[in-house]
Amino acid sequence: MSKRFPPIPEFVEPYPDESCYSILCRCAVRAPMSTSRFCREMFTKQRFLSYYLWQPFHAEEMNRWFDDTPERIQKYLLKHSCVSYRYPFLSKICQEDFEDWSAGEELSAGTYQRLTLKLGCRAWKKRSLYYCPECVRVDRRNYGETYWHMIPQLPGVFVCPVHGVPLEQSSLTQKASSWMDLYPADYWLSDTEARKETISYDELRLATDSKWMMENGWNTEIKMHSLLEGLTTWQFEQAEAQTRRFTSQRNAKNETIYHILLANIKGKSIADFMIQHEIMEN
Ligand SMILES: [Zn+2]
Repeated sequence: MSKRFPPIPEFVEPYPDESCYSILCRCAVRAPMSTSRFCREMFTKQRFLSYYLWQPFHAEEMNRWFDDTPERIQKYLLKHSCVSYRYPFLSKICQEDFEDWSAGEELSAGTYQRLTLKLGCRAWKKRSLYYCPECVRVDRRNYGETYWHMIPQLPGVFVCPVHGVPLEQSSLTQKASSWMDLYPADYWLSDTEARKETISYDELRLATDSKWMMENGWNTEIKMHSLLEGLTTWQFEQAEAQTRRFTSQRNAKNETIYHILLANIKGKSIADFMIQHEIMEN
């Protein structure tokens, strides 16, 4: 009797703010096969952790994983990758490419590459995965396990916007040496106490705004003109210099954090800015 090729491993139910990397880690340990076998089953190409930490993957792969169901693909992309955070600052062409892609369309290799470069986070300066000790404790209590959250991985975010405590840097680096480095947070992280440090208002607002962008960016039409109105050259330079501390992206203006910082310099959170602006528009 010939050996049957195993079906694609089942997807686990994602947790709130869980990164696509974390979902894959949890699938891998539950799948009745070795991690190397799991990776061969799941990916059409071999990749490093830093590459697929945020990667929304090829449509070809997603179509297999989600049984060609655009709703599931879109949910996965919008809720568990950084697409929502990045989307408002993509060019119109990239936004359209993204929409085709999330509908499960296969893009040409060049278009896919351009889009993943824009959506990837390789320019972000965090070199390891970050976590909040309080979130770890709460996750273990609520779900019986913890997982890699998305918000702690964002540039400039060094406090947990939910618990207001400093984030910790894990020893899991994004420059992992193997393409099979799927390490669930629950295996990697032990229970630790949150550091008792004073958090500045600016740090917390940046974290809270980044969380807001992650949750709402996709639905937001940011009116760039209004955001930029009335700012002085010195204020633009200030936002640019701060952005460069957190990302090596050549053009700071392409980074979401740059726009959050501009709103903050205007004395508003990006959420306040958007809400106020939407009221004015209507
Ligand atoms: Zn937390």
